[in-house]
Amino acid sequence: MRVRITKCHACGGMKQLPSPTAYVYCDFCGALADWDFACACSAGNALPGPAYEALARQMAPAMNQAKLYRDTASLKGLYTQLFARHIELCPSSYSPRIRSPDYRARYLDYYSDMMIVRDLDPRVAELSQLLNLRIAELRHAHFLGSGGMAFSFFGMVIASQPMSTQFPDAQFWAVYQTFREQYRAHMSGMWQAGVIAKYPDPATPELLERIGVSAFVQGWLSWISPAMQQHLIDDAKLRDSYMEISPPALLLRRCGRCGTRVDAVTGAWCVVCFSCGEKLDVKQAEITCPGCGAPSSLVEGAQSHVCPYCGVRAERVRGALG
Ligand SMILES: [Zn+2]
Ligand SMILES: [Zn+2]
Ligand SMILES: [Zn+2]
Ligand SMILES: [Zn+2]
Repeated sequence: MRVRITKCHACGGMKQLPSPTAYVYCDFCGALADWDFACACSAGNALPGPAYEALARQMAPAMNQAKLYRDTASLKGLYTQLFARHIELCPSSYSPRIRSPDYRARYLDYYSDMMIVRDLDPRVAELSQLLNLRIAELRHAHFLGSGGMAFSFFGMVIASQPMSTQFPDAQFWAVYQTFREQYRAHMSGMWQAGVIAKYPDPATPELLERIGVSAFVQGWLSWISPAMQQHLIDDAKLRDSYMEISPPALLLRRCGRCGTRVDAVTGAWCVVCFSCGEKLDVKQAEITCPGCGAPSSLVEGAQSHVCPYCGVRAERVRGALG
């Protein structure tokens, strides 16, 4: 079995099971432990479609107004509404935990604050402007390099000529360096504003930065030379490494929220259910439903739940544990 070489920052556990998504969760404690770039690339980029674009257009004047007046309360409301729609339309762009309503609410709180820092932090705004300038320079260099034909006008024609679809290395690298600088400033602004701490998974700032940089790299990868692609992946610390291991012993658990079968490795105490996004307490024994008799695991922190199979309330029996 091929698994990603990942050591959890929270509990030190090594990854034991293949990750179904780019968001790599610890098999022992359920923390967000790593990011799988290859998995993110093969999943592709889901587009939210015209309904989302229409909403974004419709909200743009109010958003610009709120930015102008530094009205964070209004900005927060607008971003929350916009991204809630985005999550609804392309949930696959997010952590599988986004299916949990509690996780989703916390993620929206984090993400809207992240955008407010991007919009209102003067250092980030300054670097965003510089980034746009670098991108303009890259386009200009490309325009000259491809014999004076603007690729954006004749995209279909030029795309059939392999050389012309590549941006020159030096100018691309300048764009990347400026993006990294802008993103570092963004992360540091988020840190100062207490936004990083709102991320709904246990994660490190380094990991959150790597996930953000990954989106940039994915977007540009098909527009740069093969040598630059490799250089970029290494610099962004997105090189994936895996190892072959024999399948670990598994304990069958059933999710107390959705009823799905969940595999827990030996020694695990908290695992993510990839069907409903909840984190399950697998340290304690499953509880037996008084209605249908089916066993299932409680969501982390819960003492009772509504049986996912028959709808009867089931509680952990106290006393047996002391
Ligand atoms: Zn862990
Ligand atoms: Zn081109
Ligand atoms: Zn579930
Ligand atoms: Zn039941």
